[in-house]
Amino acid sequence: MDFALTEEQRIFQESVRGLANRHLADGALARAHSPRFPLDVAKLFAQNGLIGITIPEADGGNGGTLMDAVIAIEQIALVCPRSADVVQAGNFGPLRTFAEYATPSQKEQYLAKFLAGEAIIALGMSETEAGSAVTDLSTSAKRDGDGYRVNGSKIFTSNSPDADLFLVYVRFGDGIDGIGSVLMDRDMDGFVLGKPAKYMNGEEWCSLHFDDVYIAPENVLLGPGGFKKQIAGFNTERIGNAARSLALGEFSFELARQHALIRKQFGRALCEFQGIQWKFSDMRIQIDAGRLLLYRAAVNADRGLPSAMETSIAKAFCNQAGFELCNESMQVMGGMGYSAESLIEYCFRKTRGWQIAGGSNEMMLNRIAEGVFERRFSQRPPRVKS
Ligand SMILES: Cc1cc2nc3c(=O)[nH]c(=O)nc-3n(C[C@H](O)[C@H](O)[C@H](O)COP(=O)(O)OP(=O)(O)OC[C@H]3O[C@@H](n4cnc5c(N)ncnc54)[C@H](O)[C@@H]3O)c2cc1C
Repeated sequence: MDFALTEEQRIFQESVRGLANRHLADGALARAHSPRFPLDVAKLFAQNGLIGITIPEADGGNGGTLMDAVIAIEQIALVCPRSADVVQAGNFGPLRTFAEYATPSQKEQYLAKFLAGEAIIALGMSETEAGSAVTDLSTSAKRDGDGYRVNGSKIFTSNSPDADLFLVYVRFGDGIDGIGSVLMDRDMDGFVLGKPAKYMNGEEWCSLHFDDVYIAPENVLLGPGGFKKQIAGFNTERIGNAARSLALGEFSFELARQHALIRKQFGRALCEFQGIQWKFSDMRIQIDAGRLLLYRAAVNADRGLPSAMETSIAKAFCNQAGFELCNESMQVMGGMGYSAESLIEYCFRKTRGWQIAGGSNEMMLNRIAEGVFERRFSQRPPRVKS
């Protein structure tokens, strides 16, 4: 067992931090307050090997590890919190699912643009009646000749105002085995994006409406029975999500630490008050504990042992810790921390969302309980025996 990064990982860590300091420190506040995806940052990252880190070289990626992608998220977030979303979009979530399951011709059509930072892919999974209970989704894909006709709608699709391609979960037939996914270009006939709405983090999302959208066979990503693969891809999404939460918490911690060293009240620096010191001690424990859980999940996934249990533990802990770190850091910064001129206020709003997104805290705890008791607990009402 070794708790240190390898020499190679350390060099990578330093180079990402250098890039962030040179290009992203200026403008970090403005980026955090922009409702749209920072496409210019995506191009910068593509030029510097931070998009497609884990995608095989044969597909145009960098053939790195999930752990490398986690390191990249951390180092970018510690300088420009909003830009960490670009590492996420370029390495986790729908892009990774796409890269894993797309056919050679689907990859040829889309992947190069994603890896160049010229296009982004978004995930249409949640529906008004299917949130945590995602398998209740009703967007249907019905046979039409060789292809399918898709009808239904989605909500909460992150990055939808800027996305070029949508990975949409659809129902080909009944039950979990009837679920799969299709790829939709934003300009397909019958595909309409609703008016942008805003999350508490300031980002815009659009509802997606499908009115008889024709999906040719070459735009099916995973046919009926694809749900388990899609959700396995979601485990990785959760690692990126946990990494961003913890990193934004650590970013806030560092701002507050600097503040506590120089801000004086009652003739003493804030860091000289025990009530303040203990906040930082507790925060340090949260950062270290979260990082160990996060790295365990990422390293084991890289070793071919992706574990839903370890990922759920990491996500549940890091999402909670990230938010509490921002909250406590804001407290230390006083009125300044509560002001929109401080990035802590942004990190506070942003980390709050990850307790809901990508499998809420409660859903993670449900999954962990199944691991604890080594049995499945259906969340559905018991069937009434007739
Ligand atoms: C910032 C953000 C980004 C998102 N991005 C995307 C995206 O890109 N694509 C996409 O498809 N969706 C996205 N979502 C949607 C997200 O996946 C859902 O919000 C999430 O799955 C929860 O669903 P819901 O909002 O319908 O809440 P509900 O499922 O209605 O849950 C409401 C509350 O009840 C709790 N609850 C529900 N069931 C149980 C249970 N069995 N046990 C205990 N508690 C339970 C939940 O934890 C939650 O606290 C995003 C959401 C947010 C906040």
